[in-house]
Amino acid sequence: MNWYQMFAKGHHGYPQPEDSYESELYETCCMRCGIHGRQNGSIRLRTPSKAPNSHFIQPNWLFDVFLVRSEVEAILEFEGFQALEFAPVFDCKKRCHSESLRQIIISTVMPCAETAKLPKVTCMPNNEESSWEIPGPKRYSADTPYCGSIKYHPPSTLVVDVNSLKNAPDIFQTSEWFGSGGESHRITICSERFVSIVKSNKFRGLGFNQIEFEGHSERVT
Ligand SMILES: [Zn+2]
Repeated sequence: MNWYQMFAKGHHGYPQPEDSYESELYETCCMRCGIHGRQNGSIRLRTPSKAPNSHFIQPNWLFDVFLVRSEVEAILEFEGFQALEFAPVFDCKKRCHSESLRQIIISTVMPCAETAKLPKVTCMPNNEESSWEIPGPKRYSADTPYCGSIKYHPPSTLVVDVNSLKNAPDIFQTSEWFGSGGESHRITICSERFVSIVKSNKFRGLGFNQIEFEGHSERVT
């Protein structure tokens, strides 16, 4: 069976409040690298009605968050995917939950990504990216601690250990983190079955890259 890396074709809307959404959205969050704990509440968007023609939507900055239109929720529910639930999205303009958008909650996180040759970034002083650091004000104070976590630059081709997929549900996320600077995300992986349901319903807004099972994950820049 084939597996796919799932990504959004565009980004719409900004999580609120823009300066502190991570610390409000997640149980824990390192403001330096963006690696975070479990989600703790609803995604808050200023204008959730953007991109009305997309069935799947991803807010800016949140590369592992997927939102769907209500009709998509109904079909995915009907298909009975395991480890897939839905949660409300908060509309900051109307000050209530959005009627048209819901968040997909992907509850399974699994170690599976091959990362040996990807550029590594450690959350520590003078790290692998320090020579590129942009001077200027930061969103955190100078004494904010470093968490020591490791992430990798996102691959253009992802290799996964096939044995780790034996009991995988149709949609899950890597326990490995990817990103650069203050942005970190997990890669979302889905099954051939999930892709075929998205395609047969002509849902817009998602792209899929087939995952490899041999060799090394690579980043082609
Ligand atoms: Zn960190």
